Amino acid sequence: MSDFKEKIVLVTGASRGIGRAIALELGKRGATVIVNFRSSESEANEVLEEIKASGGDGMVYQTDVADADAVDAMIKTITKTYGKLDVLVNNAGVTRDNVIMMLKPEDFDVVVNTNLRSAWLCCKAASRQMMRKRSGRIINITSVVGIAGNGGQTNYAASKAGMIGLTKSLAKEIATRGITVNAVAPGFIGTDMTADLDDTMKEAAISHIPLGRMGAPEDVAKAVAFLASDDAAYITGQVLVVDGGMVM
Ligand code: NAP
Repeated sequence: MSDFKEKIVLVTGASRGIGRAIALELGKRGATVIVNFRSSESEANEVLEEIKASGGDGMVYQTDVADADAVDAMIKTITKTYGKLDVLVNNAGVTRDNVIMMLKPEDFDVVVNTNLRSAWLCCKAASRQMMRKRSGRIINITSVVGIAGNGGQTNYAASKAGMIGLTKSLAKEIATRGITVNAVAPGFIGTDMTADLDDTMKEAAISHIPLGRMGAPEDVAKAVAFLASDDAAYITGQVLVVDGGMVM
């Protein structure tokens, strides 16, 4: 198991779901984790308690990651408190699904601002710190929907495809500074985001998954831990798909 002792890690949207699993996985491996959340304060505190109980450390930090000034303040607080930021995981995300005729421009703005603009803002603020140290890891949580598309998710797919372009461009831009930038593209994962789907829709989705099951948040967290580790030092600009074979 890779060692994250001495590593300072920020996971956005870490109060629930995939972000929670990533924070717990890295905490278990010894990292100091900043558990970012927007509204689920008690859940975020529970994540931090679990991290501490498993040997890690950290703090909770409430920020709407779509807010540029708030993101700058968060990264400044982290570097002031811990002296550095080693790993940034851009995980916070939302959906507002509907067919395009029913979507309002606001539904596009909220999804793109929360999923894509936020990741760009965090990358910008974090890479400034990482470039000084000439090392760092950035992992963007995109989606198979950003690769293959999905009816009813034009706004979400645009945000997730944008994250892939962001990942590859930034990887090229800052590779010489010792920073890697990769994306993880989950498939159909059991979290609050997918909990509203009825059984028929779930069964239909699972029928397209060769491994025959929904993914667990922990499946994604382990892939993120690999890309964040020293073992992935020679990997940058890649999209690692974690989807049980759904899109290939
Ligand atoms: P989730 O269970 O709904 O959790 C979303 C998390 O994002 C929560 O911790 C939430 O925090 C946080 N968040 C939302 N808006 C935020 C904001 N403006 N600022 C800060 N935090 C914010 O979702 P999930 O399924 O774990 O998804 C996590 C990521 O994986 C998303 O980017 C999603 O697009 C991606 N993904 C999920 C699936 C899937 O099948 N579940 C598949 C592919 C990709 P609060 O509760 O505190 O507001």
